[in-house]
Amino acid sequence: MNRLQKIYSVLHKTYGPQGWWPLTPLGSTRTRHHSGRPRKDAHRFEIMLGAILTQNTAWTNVEKALEQLHKNKLVRHDRILKTKKEKIAGLIRSAGYYNQKAERLAIISKFIKDNTLRSLMAMDAVGLRRLLLEVKGIGPETADSIVLYAFEKPSFVIDAYTKRIFSRVGLCAADADYHEMQIMFEQDVRKDVDVYKEYHALIVEHAKRHCRTKPKCEGCPISKLCKRNI
Ligand code: SF4
Repeated sequence: MNRLQKIYSVLHKTYGPQGWWPLTPLGSTRTRHHSGRPRKDAHRFEIMLGAILTQNTAWTNVEKALEQLHKNKLVRHDRILKTKKEKIAGLIRSAGYYNQKAERLAIISKFIKDNTLRSLMAMDAVGLRRLLLEVKGIGPETADSIVLYAFEKPSFVIDAYTKRIFSRVGLCAADADYHEMQIMFEQDVRKDVDVYKEYHALIVEHAKRHCRTKPKCEGCPISKLCKRNI
């Protein structure tokens, strides 16, 4: 077992399944963690909205924005397209950069209208990722989150937490770029959508509990696999 696989195994044993990406159950307006899958188109679209709303902000702020969109029955691409940008911006204020994000929600809604979820579902991970990256406001992390969590196709998500933890562990340079890190994970971790989903969520959890900006190494479950201790 290589180090990336060992770290996954230890984090999974320590923190357990993370139930990520959180979704809003039918009849509710609040997202919750779950062990299910985004079976419905509405869930896939909600994940796409969440992936945009979470850019540069914490998930707690996104939850409030999604709750407002649900209360106004706006978690639908056709309804977003019929609603004034100013109204959407007001509803998603909690997520920050609300004018820019309101514009991006309209752009992704138009993208879904033009491409349809069904035809996007039929694409492979690489093709879908490439197409998403052509959409204004969608960078690699957002594209990979959508490919992996909304469409359940294997594309490993890299974020600032991933870079922080794995550069400290000694598996990449502190200035490693997105593509380089993604190749490292996709080569060494079993190509499995559930594993990719869980690994990313576990990385986020570990960054919050131990590998914070100022690391709390005492009691860290992967300390024996970390460069600081070997
Ligand atoms: S030992 Fe410290 S630096 Fe290494 S992964 Fe754990 S918390 Fe991060």
